[in-house]
Amino acid sequence: MAFRVGVVRDARYLEHKPGLIHPESPNRLRSVYRMLDKDFADRLVYMEPKPATLEQLELVHTPGYVKLILSTAEKDFTTLASDTFVSSKSYLSAWLAVGGCIQGIDALFSEHVRTCFCLGRPPGHHALTHRAGGFCIFNNLGVAAKYAVEKYGLERVLIVDWDIHHGNALQDLFYSDNKVMYFSSHYIGWYPNTGDWEETGALEGKGYNINVPVPKEMDDTDIIHIYRDTLTPIVKKFKPQLFLVAAGFDAHKNDPLGRTKLTEKAYYWLTQLILQLSDSVNSAPILFSLEGGYDNYALAVSVKEVIANLAFEGRRQRIPSTRTEKAENVVERLKSVHSKYGVWVK
Ligand SMILES: [Zn+2]
Repeated sequence: MAFRVGVVRDARYLEHKPGLIHPESPNRLRSVYRMLDKDFADRLVYMEPKPATLEQLELVHTPGYVKLILSTAEKDFTTLASDTFVSSKSYLSAWLAVGGCIQGIDALFSEHVRTCFCLGRPPGHHALTHRAGGFCIFNNLGVAAKYAVEKYGLERVLIVDWDIHHGNALQDLFYSDNKVMYFSSHYIGWYPNTGDWEETGALEGKGYNINVPVPKEMDDTDIIHIYRDTLTPIVKKFKPQLFLVAAGFDAHKNDPLGRTKLTEKAYYWLTQLILQLSDSVNSAPILFSLEGGYDNYALAVSVKEVIANLAFEGRRQRIPSTRTEKAENVVERLKSVHSKYGVWVK
């Protein structure tokens, strides 16, 4: 059904409380939910998440790790990693964050909605199979990708990660996989300091892991240029049957952790580009899942730019075509690294 936008939201996502001064605070989602009520009211299809099943979690995580997370239930405070802490109900939020993505996938493939944004927490792209880190507990999109491949028999899933941090755990999960392509733009000087150009995949997955280290001083024009000139040939060659977007908004200029020069408008155009690329491959469904973004106001206005695009999806606009030298250098470097694989560039 055209133009129906699914949004996964739930008050139980606010129950994960990593500490009063922790940047990954429940106030992030309070700010986003307030914006949804104010700006979109009844335009969206709200979906209440169900917790993921053990079987679904174990598509990615080891049984021992799942058990460890469960053991934090009803304990006031547990340290999982030097930057990742959980409160008594965090396990439930984490279970629901994965469950929300699974439900989103099912809603997309049953054509209940055309696009879907999972607005849950904790985020997921740093969660390894057996270890939490970078504020992440379970790998929400990692499970979603494996689930989609298994349940719907997909052969080509594209993960686009525009969070300013490299999704090291998403890279790890699909490093030898040619069914799930991972594309990430990130600043390599920040946590987790992975994601170099030459990390391009292994075995069958050689050439299917695409790291795009971006300069910290990039602005909207730069990022649009980079995405337009790289994602377009990637989609043309790979022809994804599903787009998964690791939607972190910490590259925003007001973000206390990211600090590049992007404004919320960058997310408008990146979303517009992904919508148009999806048009070019049989309207492949698109699932967004919230990752970082630590200035509550910047986060809400950035999410608003994405959803505005989805909710008024009939409106296609010409992607700005301005070129910059900074962006051109990134595009050229990426193409030269990847040309030897012939996966998307010769
Ligand atoms: Zn981040």
